Amino acid sequence: MLKTPAYAAATAQSPLAPFAVERREPEARDVLIDILYCGVCHSDIHQARDEWGGSIFPMVPGHEIVGRVAKVGAQASKFKVGDIVGIGCFVDSCRHCAQCEAGEEQYCSEGMTATYNSRERGTGVPTYGGYSTRITVNEDYVLRIPDGIPLERAAPLLCAGITTYSPMRHYGLKAGDKLGVVGLGGLGHMAVKFGVAMGAEVTVLSTSESKRQDALELGATAFAVTKDKETFKRLAGSFDFIIDNVSAPHDYNDYLGLLRTNGTMVLLGVPEKPAPVSAFSLIGQRRRLGGSMIGGIRETQEMLDFCAVHGIASDVEVIGIQQINEAYERMLNGDVHYRFVIDTSSLT
Ligand code: NAP
Ligand code: ZN
Ligand code: ZN
Repeated sequence: MLKTPAYAAATAQSPLAPFAVERREPEARDVLIDILYCGVCHSDIHQARDEWGGSIFPMVPGHEIVGRVAKVGAQASKFKVGDIVGIGCFVDSCRHCAQCEAGEEQYCSEGMTATYNSRERGTGVPTYGGYSTRITVNEDYVLRIPDGIPLERAAPLLCAGITTYSPMRHYGLKAGDKLGVVGLGGLGHMAVKFGVAMGAEVTVLSTSESKRQDALELGATAFAVTKDKETFKRLAGSFDFIIDNVSAPHDYNDYLGLLRTNGTMVLLGVPEKPAPVSAFSLIGQRRRLGGSMIGGIRETQEMLDFCAVHGIASDVEVIGIQQINEAYERMLNGDVHYRFVIDTSSLT
């Protein structure tokens, strides 16, 4: 076993603090990866504070991992030492259910093995994420980072990127569509970039007036403040597509009212408590309300390659691991521009 420095939450009430994890030596088809950067997702906060229930402690969060292959198992053939690779939100799945066979391992009917806060198949050993300096993963769950994307700006693509890209493809965002992006944080700013790249006309709907200029620089053509109730009257019935990235409770009905006839709203954010949806918000204009969770390995690779072609990367603020608790507080206050990324050299 390889003793590896990390940061962990000991309980749902504890700040993150230094910890050590054991990584396995690469087995037949494993790759051992030296982690260079790890993005900080709001899901890390939800889980480290056990807001969704069932959290496993101690917890080492982190599922937006970019690193360099350090060692490969005897039968691993997809990567070689020195390759720059990524790990997203899961590291294993059953491999034989309909969803796994369709390349949508995130919906594995036996449950995907999440990169952290999960248990390895077979052994039941807890999984530990990317707030650490290395990780061992089966090569089938490892992504290739294309050349040309700065590595710290590539890390958030492994969750925030694929989570926003996948529903645009699945629910069919089209060039010329009017797209509303709700919540300009890690997911939201990627949704703006992908929406623009796919030819949509993007409006950012935000609680933070201070993000107006950034929204326009990201490529949005309009910005509206959602604290102002007038916004919901002025923009009623105006969007073909809405992506909801909000991490805190809010009224879905308000946003559904912004959709046109046949419009689609996709929930990506996961507030800790359920919220009511009125049938009237949907039936009158035949609106659709959907959800989406990350993306499969094949689509994640497609998204990474799309980013390389379109010059897309996350806008990041690089931090040392010692700033992680402060970064969580800033995210909870909406003060994120637009993804914190840990430089894992700060762990050594
Ligand atoms: P984030 O960077 O913290 O961004 C969330 C944004 O939501 C904030 O910046 C803020 O934007 C807005 N917001 C916060 N509180 C609000 C409130 N009370 N009312 C309205 N807007 C509010 O978080 P993230 O990493 O993008 O994650 C967002 C959510 O998606 C989290 O719940 C996370 O767990 C979830 N998630 C889901 C998936 C999936 O597969 N579906 C994957 C990753 C993350 P403004 O300042 O612009 O209002
Ligand atoms: Zn995430
Ligand atoms: Zn499966």
